Amino acid sequence: MFRRIDELHALIDVVPDAMVVIDRTGAIRSFNKGAERIFGYSEEQLLGENVSVLMPSPDREAHDGYIARYLETGEKRIIGRGRVTTARRRNGDTFPIELGLGEVEIAGVLHFTGFIRDLSQMRESEKLMHSLQADLAHVSRISSMGSLANSIAHELNQPLTGIANYAGAAMDLLDDPSPEDLENLRHAVSECRNEALRAGDIIRRLRTFISRGDVELEIDSLRRIVNAATAIALVDGDGRDVDFSSQFASDCEWVLVVPVQIQQVLVNLIRNALEAMQDTDSKRIRVYSMCEGDGMVRVSVSDSGPGLDPRVAERLFHPFVSTKSSGMGLGLSICHTIVNAHGGKIWAGPSELGGTEFSFTLKRADLRDADG
Ligand code: ADP
Repeated sequence: MFRRIDELHALIDVVPDAMVVIDRTGAIRSFNKGAERIFGYSEEQLLGENVSVLMPSPDREAHDGYIARYLETGEKRIIGRGRVTTARRRNGDTFPIELGLGEVEIAGVLHFTGFIRDLSQMRESEKLMHSLQADLAHVSRISSMGSLANSIAHELNQPLTGIANYAGAAMDLLDDPSPEDLENLRHAVSECRNEALRAGDIIRRLRTFISRGDVELEIDSLRRIVNAATAIALVDGDGRDVDFSSQFASDCEWVLVVPVQIQQVLVNLIRNALEAMQDTDSKRIRVYSMCEGDGMVRVSVSDSGPGLDPRVAERLFHPFVSTKSSGMGLGLSICHTIVNAHGGKIWAGPSELGGTEFSFTLKRADLRDADG
């Protein structure tokens, strides 16, 4: 299509978006003005360098493998499709981008083009829209929690009243005990037990109801979900000066999930980590996965913040527990509900980075055969 690379240059410099052209080894062949603006490198500095310098880990290390795989199999995983992911500026900042990849032939040789839109530069109005949507989601969550709480209260009221009545009767009998009352006492205590079992049964049924919901589990890539969640959390929160890295266990890349829900869990955890590190000098977030037994995979979000406040550590996953002046204290309780509904567990502990580490488990979808 283009006979020489400089013909392409002339064209892409007038493109307002950032655009990068690489060859089949991943070396940068062209880096337009828009790209210079958002990445902070000049074209001169980057010509011939591997494009992975523009990526945070783990894409940075894995990128050569992505190209090799494509050249070998011709399988178009992201070429021709846009996706939200993260990139790395010259000063080390990680930021969210929308990336569109394509192919172009220059002097008869295959090259790849990347169009990049810096999502941290989203216009104020879009940001406002975003926060309005978040508020709306909050309100609907609270109202559904409200009606759930109502129905639990309603259903549990009966057995609890029963327990109180029978226990009261038993106490009366014990005030002035006589051998003839033993049978009545036994009856009262046995009814207490029955009512307590009934209450337990109601809770169990409600749990199954919540976890069943309309949930349809899908097979998705953990890496894709984490990348999308990172981008959203960085757009919403303050991702400046944060050294963000992720690492995935390749043997358990595929999970069985409702993708938007797990994305929401990760957004909450990453946003909490960003908020916790506001006054921390060295800001680091690490997201990584590990294969677990029983067909599960563990995902952890680790930060270098101040760690958990002992006032909330015990009740982290309860609703309305917060140490923030404007916090609702709902984020972690929603994470807990979602992870439970997926058949997993969530917990928190100290992080090797010095702050807090939240971990949760998900069911693995073993695709090794299908993925070939
Ligand atoms: P909110 O963010 O509205 O306070 P959450 O349920 O998301 O509600 O979090 C509850 C509390 O847990 C927070 O107020 C904070 O004290 C604590 N917390 C959550 N994540 C972290 C973290 N990464 N580091 C330290 N504390 C945290």
